[in-house]
Amino acid sequence: MSKSISIIIPVYNEEKNIPLIYDGLKRVLQRINYEHEIIYVNDGSQDNSDAELLKLRLVDDKVKIIEFSRNFGKEIATTAGINNCQGDACILIDADLQHPPELIYEFLAKWKQGAEIVIGVREKTNSENLIKKIGSFCFYKIINRISATKIIPCATDFRLLDKIVITEFNKFTEKNRITRGLIDWLGFKREYIYFNSPKRINGKASYGFLKLCKLALNSFISMSLFPLKFAGYLGILITLGAGLLGLFIFIEKYIFNDPWGLAFSGPAILAIITLFLVGIILICLGLIALYIANIHGEVANRPIYVIRNKKNFDQVI
Ligand code: UDP
Ligand code: MG
Repeated sequence: MSKSISIIIPVYNEEKNIPLIYDGLKRVLQRINYEHEIIYVNDGSQDNSDAELLKLRLVDDKVKIIEFSRNFGKEIATTAGINNCQGDACILIDADLQHPPELIYEFLAKWKQGAEIVIGVREKTNSENLIKKIGSFCFYKIINRISATKIIPCATDFRLLDKIVITEFNKFTEKNRITRGLIDWLGFKREYIYFNSPKRINGKASYGFLKLCKLALNSFISMSLFPLKFAGYLGILITLGAGLLGLFIFIEKYIFNDPWGLAFSGPAILAIITLFLVGIILICLGLIALYIANIHGEVANRPIYVIRNKKNFDQVI
């Protein structure tokens, strides 16, 4: 039996793009040897997207629609698609034509060669402004420094996931999620495909600067404990600094009776004592953070390990 693939498309106010991406996909899908389904996840669109989707559904029974009761955001929409797909692999693709459907050939070729995850990486971001570019540069620098999972800059959501990855992905229970981050966390054999992302023609990108900042903050929090521990590190630094300075003043002023004539004033000494105590409070916060980190890990409830396959376990002892 030939293998099957599921195409998953999150849709938020894309009425003009829905027929276009459908045509683009169909052109590709007709020329490959796989069965397919196309899952549109309508993420609470307020325009005519639902009517456009119904039109497609009437002419093509490969089209499946998941309709959200309101807008839940792209991360949740893709999750719903992955949870409900039936193919031996799924391909996540944006509705706004910024992920060229023709690349699916390459995705499938890599999959056939044994890749379990294929990731589309944007080469040029000609459509974005300077602030977004600087923002994304800093984001990847920081997150790669502070998180255990390595993330390639400009890796997009344009991805193919093998069934084995889908099964593991479906085990995640955390609510506040970044789909990309979770997939990266899973590991597995990955391949990359580089592509130029064209400008969005119809509609507008719903991820503005603020929404992107929120996403970045969310990624930091869910992928790394560094922000939590930061207060503690700061505390250690301040306590050490203030402590050494205090010791110096004590020895210089009270033991040797100010041989260098520095004449530290009362307020200066008071300031250093205060600083020292602030440092200690920050260290305590850092300690509490460690416990919260523990709780965070337990609540996120990620699988403690991920198995690719097991060999010879049907053998009875
Ligand atoms: N999208 C969604 N829910 C949202 C925002 C966006 O399902 O709340 C979909 C949108 O329809 C598109 C994809 O996510 O198919 C990418 O959205 P967008 O182009 O706004 O993001 P960007 O290209 O800037 O990453
Ligand atoms: Mg887009």
